[in-house]
Amino acid sequence: MNYKIAILPGDGIGKEVTDCGVNVLKFVADRFGYDFQFEYGLIGHAAIEKTGVPLPEETLNLCQNADAILLGAVGHPMYDKNPSLNVRPEQGLLKVRKELGLYTNIRPIKIFDELIAASSLKPEVLRGADILFFRELTGGIYFGDRNSNSKAAFDTMSYSKEEVQRIVTKAFKAAKNRRGRLHSIDKANVLDSSRLWRSVVQELAVEFPEVEVIHMYVDNAAMQLIRDPKQFDVVVTGNMFGDILTDEASQIAGSLGMLPSASVGDRVGLYEPVHGSAPDIAGKNIANPLATILSTALMLDNSFEMKEASQCVIRAVEAILKKGFRTLDTADESTEPDKILGTNEIGMKVLKALEAKTPVSNLN
Ligand code: NAD
Repeated sequence: MNYKIAILPGDGIGKEVTDCGVNVLKFVADRFGYDFQFEYGLIGHAAIEKTGVPLPEETLNLCQNADAILLGAVGHPMYDKNPSLNVRPEQGLLKVRKELGLYTNIRPIKIFDELIAASSLKPEVLRGADILFFRELTGGIYFGDRNSNSKAAFDTMSYSKEEVQRIVTKAFKAAKNRRGRLHSIDKANVLDSSRLWRSVVQELAVEFPEVEVIHMYVDNAAMQLIRDPKQFDVVVTGNMFGDILTDEASQIAGSLGMLPSASVGDRVGLYEPVHGSAPDIAGKNIANPLATILSTALMLDNSFEMKEASQCVIRAVEAILKKGFRTLDTADESTEPDKILGTNEIGMKVLKALEAKTPVSNLN
């Protein structure tokens, strides 16, 4: 099988982590006899520096003609420090999502047993938590009308019925195939857009009688997520609420460096770690590449239907964690100092685990 994969490293730790992801994909191609062609494109600050825009036409064309996309992260401190800059890295990310119609962002949130000690939450709260988040990605307040002057500013949160229907339907289907429970998160006590969201969920619920639906306000959801994450199975929510809640939920996975994501619409899928460009650790070879590596597992499964290869990647990650290897963000007091590794070294351990017939026993 022959697939074209667009690689958009972006900024900060983006290149370091996508390099590890590409190595895994190359390994999988060799081992399973697939032919993956990798083509690189610019996005974010890296693109602004070279072309003046955060998403050059060339990158968009590359993505439109690819079978899947692997993205690192975008963002640079110069924009974070200067909010008045009009051309910004994140515009590249928003545009690629919009242009490719990637309206559903799927984020599996689950802790590997080996990382339970790395989380700031209690082991008994975490053990067994397994959540599938559906975040709306091309609508809501990040795409609504906005304006500002020196005295005031506004952003608009708007959703059409169709925008809500298409993602909520996907979430219902997922819940039906999992534990049959769907939490829809909104702020319907205050916002009109949330009242529309809730009414669409209620309408669709009739078509999925086997799924239990729970409506929850976003402020309560923020609290419930860390109080008792096991109550959640599938969660569906709008763009901004999902952005915030999934960063919070990264603590359920042990670290932001562990959370992969898949952005899908009706055609090509884009896979990226949930974290940003982490300028505080960029260039130091200490970023955790496992979120990106787990994103390649999502790609293999969702875009190419290579379920066995996808499972192998997940098992290889599990195997190196079992062996005690960690990056700094997931290390705790029980981690042996010589098992705290850099980005490249952890990436190499994953390759070694993939190579091994019985990955856990062959890693040293
Ligand atoms: P961030 O996710 O980059 O970092 C938050 C914290 O988590 C930092 O302390 C960072 O060091 C740590 N971290 C993140 N990823 C890690 C990894 N793989 N391994 C170890 N530690 C990791 O978020 P931020 O600091 O709020 O934003 C930094 C920049 O990234 C900003 O410019 C922001 O706009 C951008 N951003 C981009 C995306 C994206 O590209 N999808 C998402 C969020 C933020």
